[in-house]
Amino acid sequence: MFRYNIPAIFVLFITLLATTAPTQLAQWKTENSITGLPADPRIVAALKQISAQRIQANIERLVSFQTRSTLSAQDPNSIAAGRGIGAAREWIKSEFERYSRDCGGCLEVKTDSFVEGPVDRIPKPTEITNVYAVLKGTDPENARRIVLISGHYDSRNSDTLDTTGRAPGANDDGSGTAVSLECARVLSKLRFPATIIFLTVAGEEQGLNGSRHFAEMARSAGWDIEAVLNNDIVGGDRNPQQDASVVRVFSEGVPAAATEAELRLLRNLGGESDSVSRQVARYIAEMGRTYDTGVKPMLVFRLDRYLRGGDHYSFNQQGYAAVRFTEYRENYNHQHQNVRTENGIEYGDVPKFVNFDYVANVARLNAATLASLALAPVPPGSVRLLTKELENDSTLTWEPSPGGRATGYEVLWRATTSPEWEHVEALGNLTRATLPHSKDNVIFAVRAVDEAGHRSLPVVPLPER
Ligand SMILES: [Zn+2]
Repeated sequence: MFRYNIPAIFVLFITLLATTAPTQLAQWKTENSITGLPADPRIVAALKQISAQRIQANIERLVSFQTRSTLSAQDPNSIAAGRGIGAAREWIKSEFERYSRDCGGCLEVKTDSFVEGPVDRIPKPTEITNVYAVLKGTDPENARRIVLISGHYDSRNSDTLDTTGRAPGANDDGSGTAVSLECARVLSKLRFPATIIFLTVAGEEQGLNGSRHFAEMARSAGWDIEAVLNNDIVGGDRNPQQDASVVRVFSEGVPAAATEAELRLLRNLGGESDSVSRQVARYIAEMGRTYDTGVKPMLVFRLDRYLRGGDHYSFNQQGYAAVRFTEYRENYNHQHQNVRTENGIEYGDVPKFVNFDYVANVARLNAATLASLALAPVPPGSVRLLTKELENDSTLTWEPSPGGRATGYEVLWRATTSPEWEHVEALGNLTRATLPHSKDNVIFAVRAVDEAGHRSLPVVPLPER
């Protein structure tokens, strides 16, 4: 008797759920909740081109150089012998050049070389070379905007100063280098109004030397970098606790480059979770809902993991929006370790621990983000929240998105306690909006939209009295 009652209760419960769910959904929709963006068929097609086999081949090639220590050999003989960081650098360059030949010379392949040291972890003057490929934007007014992806091609073993010992660096950071390369190969088949830079840096393991030099160069040249996606340890190490459906996205809250006056404003207004880097992280989360990449971003609201740093920070220090992608669960036996077996435990960052399908999925999420941003209109300028009067409505104003691509604007908002944008109000081609929500209770932002539905990064308003 008892046995039959339980299913009956379940049936009733399920019936109740089925009858109440549509009403709840309807209410949810009328509140303009964020549900993901329209997928661009060109981006969907590009993501299908990303190949786990190519990524595997590229990581294995990087490992074949034995060591990519920044302090390892880069003389012509070692390059010819395929050993050391110089050989790795030349191979990456030739790979970018090959992609460029396949797209009618669409990529400009460049190097950024400089001499560093002696400094901590670089005992003598050492040439460090970043290698990058530029896919120039096709629209003169938008081409000055840059979205950038980076991975570090240098590696290390147990000893940061070991210049000759084996340092395969398959995951750290062959994986991130392979993501930059594969995004370059696939996205170079398309054209974008804005510019995309595919970067691989050296010197990361010695102290972020390569990325620091590059970010400083970008800042002093006045480059308008809208977002930096740094991929470091995205190999999806095959360990039992790994979750291959998730990739972490780290973003700074309070900007490293904020001035005293800006910090005062953040403190007064509760702006500590609205850095430009965090807007990029939220944009990536939206990409995860829009495109089927096979991996979901897990936003982590901190600069980086405990005791660790990465190349995104070099860009943050120059005031650029930059985030870090890293696998869900790292295996410290497979990073910064000499390759060996001890008490039955295998140490070392070798390819057999890398999940190449996972790296391909991470590359898809990166490619979707790069492509969407490069197709999007310029974010609206001078976004302001009018605070002259005490009132319960909120009025926002902004300057039109330059570059002529925006056909409308959207106001986003969320509760001050919410991690992601919750609501959206679509507006026409306006530069002012009044919403019946108190600015004291929510955080607002404005973004530009083009005809095809590409969205710019949102801009959080400054108060104007
Ligand atoms: Zn690394």
